[in-house]
Amino acid sequence: MSIAENGKPTRFGPDWPGRRCGATTRSGTPCKKAALKGRARCRNHGGCATGPRTEAGRARIVAAQLKHGRLTKERRAEAKRRAEVGREIRAELRDIAARAVAYGWLDPDWKDQFD
Ligand SMILES: [Zn+2]
Repeated sequence: MSIAENGKPTRFGPDWPGRRCGATTRSGTPCKKAALKGRARCRNHGGCATGPRTEAGRARIVAAQLKHGRLTKERRAEAKRRAEVGREIRAELRDIAARAVAYGWLDPDWKDQFD
């Protein structure tokens, strides 16, 4: 065993190239164990956990992760749709204004009247 920055011995030495568990222990020090293969945590700190299995469990996790709902997939899709509608309306208005100018119903510099 060798000594880490916190003065406590580490399991595989400070220069061990493997991935360590990223958990904080109950005493506040970082966990010294190696993380499980393909995971960020050791066996003691949830490395074996596979997440919620049941539909109710998944719903509970979603509810716990949701802060305000402003950036949900549905809200972002709706904002995108509204932006597209706005672009279509502005394009149609541009087209109408161009035709009105072409027919002489509007001055070519009609937009300057609104400064
Ligand atoms: Zn750990």
